Amino acid sequence: MALNACELEIDLFCRGMRIPDDVSLDGARGISRTRAGLGSGLEITIPTGSWLKPEVWVNVPVVESFAQRSPYVLSGSPEAGYTLTNAETTDRYVVRVPREPRWYGRQTSRDIPMNHIGVLQGTYLGIYVNLVCTFWNYDPALNCRFCTTGQNVGENESADKDVSDVVETCRAAKEESGVTFVHLNGGFQGSRGIQFTEPYIRAIKEEVGMLTGVQLAPEKDFSRYDRLIGLGVDHLSFCLEFWNPKYFTEVCPGKEKMLGQKLFLDAMEYCAKRMPKGAVSGEIIAGIEPVEDTIAAIDHIAGLGAFPTVCVFRPTVGADMESWAPPAYDQMRAIMLHVYEACRKNWIPIGAAPNIEVSLVVNPDDAAMLAQRDSAFWAYEAYRRTARVVAAPLFAWRRRARAPRAAGVRPRSGTSRA
Ligand code: SF4
Repeated sequence: MALNACELEIDLFCRGMRIPDDVSLDGARGISRTRAGLGSGLEITIPTGSWLKPEVWVNVPVVESFAQRSPYVLSGSPEAGYTLTNAETTDRYVVRVPREPRWYGRQTSRDIPMNHIGVLQGTYLGIYVNLVCTFWNYDPALNCRFCTTGQNVGENESADKDVSDVVETCRAAKEESGVTFVHLNGGFQGSRGIQFTEPYIRAIKEEVGMLTGVQLAPEKDFSRYDRLIGLGVDHLSFCLEFWNPKYFTEVCPGKEKMLGQKLFLDAMEYCAKRMPKGAVSGEIIAGIEPVEDTIAAIDHIAGLGAFPTVCVFRPTVGADMESWAPPAYDQMRAIMLHVYEACRKNWIPIGAAPNIEVSLVVNPDDAAMLAQRDSAFWAYEAYRRTARVVAAPLFAWRRRARAPRAAGVRPRSGTSRA
């Protein structure tokens, strides 16, 4: 039986897709490894055929060795549209390959290509804003073993992102692509990561007006989170990665040595108590530690009023774990269903913010397609839709530019680094 859109999304994360040489991707978003490397695939959308959610975004692995053995094969063209065929089952799925936005080809006023400042990952803009995560500077390196940030920043994306570069890229993404949310991340920067990020947040909020998320290694002085919230940050996320301490230690040696797993949990809890329900997220990777550990992490995060962001492990080219096998579909399906059920149990208003579709993970509201249609399901779906309508004016207000300036008149000096 053919998979539904969310099931296909999960299977594509696990098995990837092949693109024959004669299939043209003219005009598609480029395949480029930026940030930690999770978005190194081809962006597609899958129509759901359901009024609950019209389409699902997926960044499909295509360059990894497991993707070269995938049963999924893309066919079609920009003019005729695209189809994905599972060569084992002969099931066929219509998919869309989104166009590259025009601003990708433009440069900031410092002559840096805008797609070396930020990239779309689904419908949001992702920007690695800080200097290269310092875990890569140690000898031996303390980087997380699944990550490729140290190879990407300065190569596939600019290592030096001035506030003006970020503002101009955000403005283009908002005005030309309708982007509502920018996600700033930055790896480990000692105790300076949050401070380093503040001028970017201030400028985005004042001059562009976007929902803004920050994802950094946790810092011990929690009053810095109060400062971020005071600046108007809309979302804070913490990359816990693993619940099981053994996997946390072995796969994330820098996080274990410099921070400790407890700091992630404490910072997440601190912020979850100060921000609206669902405005904080805990990120974990599924497919490395035992399933029951991933389930325990999901329950803990949702129990805090945060939402669990669960990445399907991708053995990215160039990562220390490149030769690992990707996870199995059945396990990932069970985990994603549990994400939805944990959010439902804790009344997390997933999908309330406008136009935020993340292609790197199975969005918790994608996973509604996995759930049984019973009274609890419909009650939660009604709650989510009500929350979306009620919150719409608030999100519109938070997306206003507080002190808009005309493009090109922003002072160049003294704006870069905190
Ligand atoms: S903290 Fe880990 S995952 Fe994040 S950028 Fe550094 S090495 Fe990569």
